[in-house]
This record gives sequence, C-alpha cells and structure tokens, in this order.
Amino acid sequence: MAEANNLEAGNRHDLRVGLSPDAPDENDFRDEGKGAFGYAHSYETSSRYDGPGLRMVLFLSGCLLRCKYCHNPDTWHMKDGTHVSAQHVLDRLASFAPALRSLDGGLTISGGEPLVQLEFTRRIFAGAKKMQLHTAIETSGYLGDRADDDYLANLDLILLDIKSSDPATYKRATERDLAPTLKFAERLAAMGKSTWIRFTLVPGLTDDPANVEGIAKFVAPMKNVEWVEVQPFHQMGAFKWKAMNLDYELADRPSAPPELTKRVIEQFRAAGCNAR
Ligand code: SF4
Repeated sequence: MAEANNLEAGNRHDLRVGLSPDAPDENDFRDEGKGAFGYAHSYETSSRYDGPGLRMVLFLSGCLLRCKYCHNPDTWHMKDGTHVSAQHVLDRLASFAPALRSLDGGLTISGGEPLVQLEFTRRIFAGAKKMQLHTAIETSGYLGDRADDDYLANLDLILLDIKSSDPATYKRATERDLAPTLKFAERLAAMGKSTWIRFTLVPGLTDDPANVEGIAKFVAPMKNVEWVEVQPFHQMGAFKWKAMNLDYELADRPSAPPELTKRVIEQFRAAGCNAR
C-alpha cells in the first residue's frame, strides 16, 4: 500500500495529478476494507456553497462518470489523488469543527464520486457525527446502491446531481446510464432523506426544455427535496483538460448566459420545485 501523506489544503480548481501512481483503478475498486485510508484531491475550509452554513469540503479522487463538462477531470482517477488516512482528515476536521458548528455548517464530501470509496467515507462521516457536525455528500447517484441504510444514517443531506432526465442525453453527457441515479433518488424520497438536486446547465447539451421538464416533473412530487440548484456551465475547468491532454469537446461552448439560467429556474418553479 502507498504511504499515507498529508493532504494539502487548497481548492477544487487546483490541478493535482499523478500523486499516487500505485493507486487502484477506480473502475475495479470495491472499498470493502475498513476504510482507514483513501485517495483525496483537496479540501476547502470555508465553502458557503456545498450545503447549509460554513462548510469544510473534502474532494475525493475516483469517479466512474466522464462528464463532457467536468470541471475537475483530475478527480477521475485515484492515482491522481493523495493517499491519506481517515484519521488525518478527521484531525483536520476537528480543528475546524468549532467554527463550522458555530456558523451552522459542517462537512461535505464531494469528488470525484465519494461512493467509490465507501468505507473511507463511512469512517469520515461517522467521525464527523461524533463531532456533532452536519454532514452532506455530493454524488451522481450512479453508485447509490452501494450506500446502505447505515451509511445514509450518518448523512444529514444528499446533494444529488441529476444531469439529465433523458437516458440518451445522460449517456451522451456522462458515458453512463441514468437509471441508477433515478433509482437512488426514489429511494431517498421513500426514506424522507433531505436532498438538494443539482443540475448543470450546459448550452446545447442539457438545456433542452423537454430535458429540464423531465427532471422537474420527476422531482416536484418528492417532499424530501428542499432545493433544486441550477448550476450554469462555465469554462473554469478548461485548463485542466488541456494540461491533462484530454479531448475537451466543449472547448468552444459558451458559458450558460443569465437569461438561459433564469428560464430554466423558472421552468423548475413552474413545475412546483423550490429552485434557485
Ligand atoms: S460526476 Fe462530477 S467528477 Fe465525475 S465526471 Fe461528472 S462532473 Fe466530473
């Protein structure tokens, strides 16, 4: 096993590659061990964006999707992350815990895809709950079946990315199937688990009114969904694709303009969703 290292603070826009060349492939990895170690990209300590209040956000390495618009392709592979111990992460979290609690925040684990490293994240969420912190995960839901009920019991909020309501568009955007995400959303609704839906609005890829309508109609009846957040596509991650020699199909795609974002938010609201 690779040596455990210190995880440097930073943010999601840092480019970090090749830090753990011996790491397992994320496609074959089943985190069935005790989760004492994992692979992480970075962490931020003062996000006000990834859940309620002030948040520490841990970005993990490893994702099975390949979103055409991904802002952080350096989180796709575990070999690009830093090998860290769960205890190291929890020690960092403990030093921020009083501030996070006093500002009604907590811990969010994002990615990559946190459910690739199920036991590692289970251990960190359990530690965060012992610190009486609010906990949230940002996930595509593609691996939602892996999250057993005990795992979800340590989560106060799910930030669920639904990238499309149309299977063909979802496949085109992510190279994966839509069905597991919808199944996970339905399970969360049946459990009454607090959820925010996140939708990335990409001109010419996900902005079709029928696509938006499909998500809106699916989500609107779900009483556990507190917010639908529309995230306009931007080009802040373009430099990573270039630096990693990846074929970036959206290189010339404009950012989502405010009038388009407004139209889509209104579409969600018209269907009965709390959207912003
Ligand atoms: S799910 Fe997130 S991290 Fe994974 S490819 Fe898509 S945008 Fe990137």
